[in-house]
Order: sequence, then structure tokens, then C-alpha cells
Amino acid sequence: MNLNRLLRKNIRRLKGYSAEEIPCRVKLDANESPYGFPYLLEGLEKTVSTNRYPDPEGRELKRAAARRWRLRPGNILIGNGSDEIIYYLITAFGGPVLYPTPTFSMYGIISRILGEEGIGVPLDRSFDLDTEGMTEVIREARPKLIFLSSPNNPTGNCFSSERIFRIIKASRGIVVVDEAYQPFSSRWGMLRLLEEFDNLAIMRTLSKIGFASLRVGFLLARKELIDAVDRVRLPFNVNALSQAVAVEVMKRYGEIEKALRVISRERERLYRELERIDGVTPYPSEANFILFKVRGASDVHEGLLSRGVLVRDMRGSVRDCLRVTVGTPEENRLFLDSLREVLSRDRRR
Ligand code: PMP
Repeated sequence: MNLNRLLRKNIRRLKGYSAEEIPCRVKLDANESPYGFPYLLEGLEKTVSTNRYPDPEGRELKRAAARRWRLRPGNILIGNGSDEIIYYLITAFGGPVLYPTPTFSMYGIISRILGEEGIGVPLDRSFDLDTEGMTEVIREARPKLIFLSSPNNPTGNCFSSERIFRIIKASRGIVVVDEAYQPFSSRWGMLRLLEEFDNLAIMRTLSKIGFASLRVGFLLARKELIDAVDRVRLPFNVNALSQAVAVEVMKRYGEIEKALRVISRERERLYRELERIDGVTPYPSEANFILFKVRGASDVHEGLLSRGVLVRDMRGSVRDCLRVTVGTPEENRLFLDSLREVLSRDRRR
């Protein structure tokens, strides 16, 4: 049987998101937090039942999240990770979908999965938004959705707020500011602007702050927008265990913030160390990873891996670049030592 002929046309040549498990000692490729919080799982057997479906609306989690972000529960939609929210947004509104490039690949991948047009406009030389280029596309293609990851993955920088405002004002579609990495940034997020712009939506996730295994993401927006997206949400999309842990995360956010501060401090140290290595150019970051340019990036990636250190090869989207997630001080030291070793080996040859 020729399965390919049965597949929808837009899926035939689609390569899905690649998240293969590569064995390594030091895992610095996926922007996870090196710090987990296993004690938050304690005692959950008293509240989570295995035989009943979870709360379909995630009411307790919405209340806890609303308190934390000073919103109303009606301003929140919970997803199985923000990936699912991206899926729901594009399912509900359709395309064209506009985003800068390079950026998080799922905006484009999900657009293609759903048969919608994804339009990428390259960032400028300092990795900020090309507002001219984007407003031109907005005028001509009238995108229904615009995704702005700020801080941006993989470049690490925040876009300038003034440029984000220009895009929001120019667009008659919805502008989704993906703040997955906002907890590591020194800049203000867009939360306080939700009341000002009715076409603004914000995404947050627990994945980067120590809870990637839970798969919990949030869409924050005015109620009408949340209700519209909620129409396409699958029943019981977030399981009971994840909901219960996420409630604890929201209530005890202070404990989690301590770990976030450690990571941001380590990022600055890692950046300075990378700057001092000959042949390496790191880009300033407001996230929990650093993009860096290095000669022979492919060999460097391999060389690091042969020493047990896994980083992300970004050559597909930024020339000669690798991306390293900030780990524990010990992991970062192992990464830096291995990088120096790999580069000095290359120099000797
Ligand atoms: N947005 C951005 C910018 C990301 O980098 C990622 C993860 N790499 C996600 C969203 C996905 O987050 P989640 O784990 O909540 O699906």
C-alpha cells in the first residue's frame, strides 16, 4: 500500500519536529532547567485520582495562575505545553501566519501541518524585528496570526518593545508574544499591556523553569479571544497530575524564582567565558541559553558530543552557530573545558 498517496498533500514531504534522544553526559541542547523540584510531587496521591478524568477546565490551576499574573481565570487557556496552544491558535484562526526568522520552528511546522501558509521575515542584523519588512507583509498578506518569541529562540535577545508595538498596531490579526523565556529576562514582559491592545495574546510555559515533563503552557489574553480558541481545544487536554503540580508551582513561585536567578547569573558568567575563547562569538542573551558562532561549527558539535556534551546545532537557521543551554555551574564548566579542548585540537591540526 502506498501510504504516501493516502497522506494529505501538505504532510507528504513534511519533516516533523526533531527531538531525538542522543545519549550524553551533559545535556545542554533543549533549553530545559538543570534544576527539578521533585518534592512538589509529594502527597499528590491524596488529591489526584487515577480513575476519573481530570478537570476539563483546569479551574484550580486557572485560579492559581490568575492570582500569580493578576488576571481573571477567564483570561487564561491551559495547554499541553505551549506547542499545543500554537496548534490551537492556528487551528482556530488559520493563516497566513507571520513570524520573524530565525525563530522557534514550531510556528512554521504547525502552520504546514494544518495546511496554512507560514511567512518568515528575516530579523535584522542585530536580531531585532525588521518592522518595515513585517509591516509590508501585514499590508499585503493580512496574516491572521503573528508569532513573536521574545526573548527569541534561538537568538536569545528580546525584541525592542517599540518595534513590537508597531507590529501590534499595524496588524489586524492577532499578535502572540511567546514569553517562554521571559522568566530569565531583565526586561518587562507584555503582561501589563493585555488591557491596552485587544489583538495581543501572550504565551507562557512551565517547560523552561523546571517542569518540562509536565507539559503545561498558558495562553493569556482578553476573554473573547480565550473563548474563541477554547472552541477547538480537545477535552481533558491537560492531565490531572500536571494540573496538580502546576497549581503548586503557581503557589510556590518564590521557591522557583531562586533557581531562575541562579540560571540567569550563570548565563552571564558563561557568556563572559565564551567571549574569552578565541574563535568563539557569543550573542547576548536574555534567556536560559546562549547562541554562539564558532568556526567549524559542525566539527565542534561532534567534538563536544564525543566528550559527552550535547549542544544544539543551529546551522540550519543561523550560519556557523551552536546553541548551548545554561546548565549547573558544574555542567557549564564541563562544556567550557570540552569546547576549549576541541578548539585547541583543531588548531593543532
Ligand atoms: N516557545 C518557544 C519560544 C520555545 O523555545 C519552546 C520550546 N523550545 C516552546 C514555545 C515550547 O514550549 P512547551 O514545552 O511549553 O511546548
